[in-house]
Amino acid sequence: MDGDPDLCIGGAWRHACDGGTRDIINPANGAVAAVVDEATPQDALDAVAAARVAFDQGGWRATSVAERSALLHRIADLLQRDKEDLARLETVDTGKTLAESRIDIDDVTSVFRYYANLVASEAERVVDAGDPAVISRVIREPIGVCVLIAPWNYPLLQMSWKVAPALAAGCTMVAKPSEVTPLSTIAFAKLLDEAGVPPGVVNLIQGSGATLGPALTDNPQVDFISFTGGLATGRTIARTAAEHVTKVALELGGKNPHLVFADIRDAGRESGWDAAVDHVLTGVFLHSGQVCSAGTRLIIEESIADEFVADLAARAATIRMGDGLDPASETGPLVSAQHRDKVESYVRLGISEGAQLIAGGCRPEDPVLAGGYFYRPTIFDRCDRSMRIVQEETFGPILTVERFTDEAEAVTLGNDTEYGLAAGVRTTDTARGERVVRALRHGTVWLNDFGYYTAAAEWGGFGRSGNGRELGPTGLAEYQEIKHIWHNTAPAAAGWFTG
Ligand code: NAD
Repeated sequence: MDGDPDLCIGGAWRHACDGGTRDIINPANGAVAAVVDEATPQDALDAVAAARVAFDQGGWRATSVAERSALLHRIADLLQRDKEDLARLETVDTGKTLAESRIDIDDVTSVFRYYANLVASEAERVVDAGDPAVISRVIREPIGVCVLIAPWNYPLLQMSWKVAPALAAGCTMVAKPSEVTPLSTIAFAKLLDEAGVPPGVVNLIQGSGATLGPALTDNPQVDFISFTGGLATGRTIARTAAEHVTKVALELGGKNPHLVFADIRDAGRESGWDAAVDHVLTGVFLHSGQVCSAGTRLIIEESIADEFVADLAARAATIRMGDGLDPASETGPLVSAQHRDKVESYVRLGISEGAQLIAGGCRPEDPVLAGGYFYRPTIFDRCDRSMRIVQEETFGPILTVERFTDEAEAVTLGNDTEYGLAAGVRTTDTARGERVVRALRHGTVWLNDFGYYTAAAEWGGFGRSGNGRELGPTGLAEYQEIKHIWHNTAPAAAGWFTG
């Protein structure tokens, strides 16, 4: 950024080996926010090689858990010290509001604190081998060199879900943020230097995924690839990595249902109806719908559908769009002109499929927003599950509405997706709530809430939403190999062969 080198390889900051750069665009106004180095495949190979050397020959993997835990706490302290600067970078890069970016940096901090504490409390497991002379132990070791690939919607947050457990486990790594939004990750890598992460343990490159992908994923020096992004990219990576039997964890897209039962009326206006309208609205339109777990499919009981959808449409029309740096803005733009083109093509598709457009469906008219990539919150009523607009991830501010008449139909609709990342259920009937959350085939299910998560609980998808888990103890286990040590304290001949 600003002429400083942006790639960190083997502890040294450097420019791309061919001198290439990329303009980073502020989606709120289309202006160039920064110019950063664009890595070449050779830079990516160098980064993997540096991580390999740091793992095989450096002392990092053998550090004590106490040392690693202390380092993670130091990183958390620095994240809080630099919170405002990091949050501004995230807003300028992604377009999300500053309020959201601040929450992201707090969440990033929590992830480092969580893994600092978890790794310090991990103990080896002693098992009964069935022989009193044998001490049988199961221990965890770092998996090795990790490639960490993150998307653009939560740049530093998604990267932290990978870097924190990888460091806690004692791995070395190459981090590659999205080429669209690398700014916060570059600043974060500088902060890691300051915290005392040894040279070569965290290497940073940025640039086009298609260009750098083969060097990172078709590479026998890599032990583990943790990828968050789209389904098509995930498939390519899994296919490529299979050649080397490299372990891959995929965190992919979602098309997340939000089931609303008519009994919400029983809880009274405020905590029943109004809270449900509010959560459906926030669940789909936060960050202009660019959230993997956005509740983009409203599945609602027929008897309340007309009134509920009318309330939703009225509220959607009042959402204040604007530059994320303006405290008055409630939501920002889409991340790029190209992404807005994709969202617009989905709106045209929805209309051609016969869905009824009842809100949005166009860019805002406000001339102040004309330079940015804004798109109005959009609602399609009278949708059905055969429509592509209902089945495909649009990753924009588009809500589809389907109606049901009984619980079984609601569950069938909620599970009718190739994805399975997240779902919401709103009901005042406790027994029904429990039945439905268990029947839904999704990695996270919110009951009478939507969108929240905690570093202590696993995050990940069923179906084509992925095959890994981040956060929680499983999020650390992804970065660990398991070793069984069989120790015979009274060795004697096996006696199998008698000759
Ligand atoms: P994307 O798949 O286009 O890109 C993700 C990352 O992969 C980027 O860093 C990109 O440069 C890189 N990449 C692209 N092609 C590659 C290749 N051939 N080899 C290696 N790397 C490559 O996704 P995106 O548009 O940045 O992000 C949006 C997607 O991410 C959505 O589908 C969203 O649902 C998903 N997502 C999922 C989660 C989750 O937790 N499951 C969280 C956030 C986002």
